[in-house]
Amino acid sequence: MSAGAEAPGAAEAAEKRGLVIVYTGHGKGKTTAALGMVFRALGRGMRVAVVQFIKGKWKTGERLFAETLPGLTFLVMGRGFTWESDDLSRDKAAARAAFDEAAALIAGGEHDIVVLDEITYAIHYGFIAEGELLSALRGRPAHVHVVITGRNAPDALVELADLVTEMKSVKHPFAQGMKAQIGVDF
Ligand code: ATP
Ligand code: MG
Repeated sequence: MSAGAEAPGAAEAAEKRGLVIVYTGHGKGKTTAALGMVFRALGRGMRVAVVQFIKGKWKTGERLFAETLPGLTFLVMGRGFTWESDDLSRDKAAARAAFDEAAALIAGGEHDIVVLDEITYAIHYGFIAEGELLSALRGRPAHVHVVITGRNAPDALVELADLVTEMKSVKHPFAQGMKAQIGVDF
């Protein structure tokens, strides 16, 4: 590819404002889409933070890879906690801590993209108030993109967002009894 094919330039990109991007729906690909954007942005030298609102004991390929990338801030909810019991108050405290970190990352403006992976579940379970997320988004520095993933995105979030994609499941191997596979699902 010639250098001329590379577009847009940095000056053009600087005019763009930060977006709220939501990947929701029941089909596979929400987290994958967010991580694809992270990959792209890191290639552009952008500063990126990912906060995963999933239990930290679950190892994922993205988490293992993130540890090798110094330019990427990658936080997993409840990392360092023990998760032996299904203690709801502990889940709530972990979600709260993750949200507080995420809100600080968004407000700080040092990261061009902040991904809140699976945060819709924390809202669904009442761990985080929907209004708190909306306030964090509304108050963000103008250049910051926030990417949100998870099923059942609340209506008010869809309303506020600039870009919403709903993943629709047409086929999934789970229906044929196939379990999640390493490198494909986690
Ligand atoms: P991924 O992380 O693979 O992009 P996702 O973020 O869209 O998936 P989640 O709701 O976070 O989906 O669920 C993660 C897990 O659920 C993955 O193992 C994924 O393969 C599985 N999954 C996603 N969609 C479906 C579906 N329609 N039927 C069954 N399992 C699914
Ligand atoms: Mg996901």
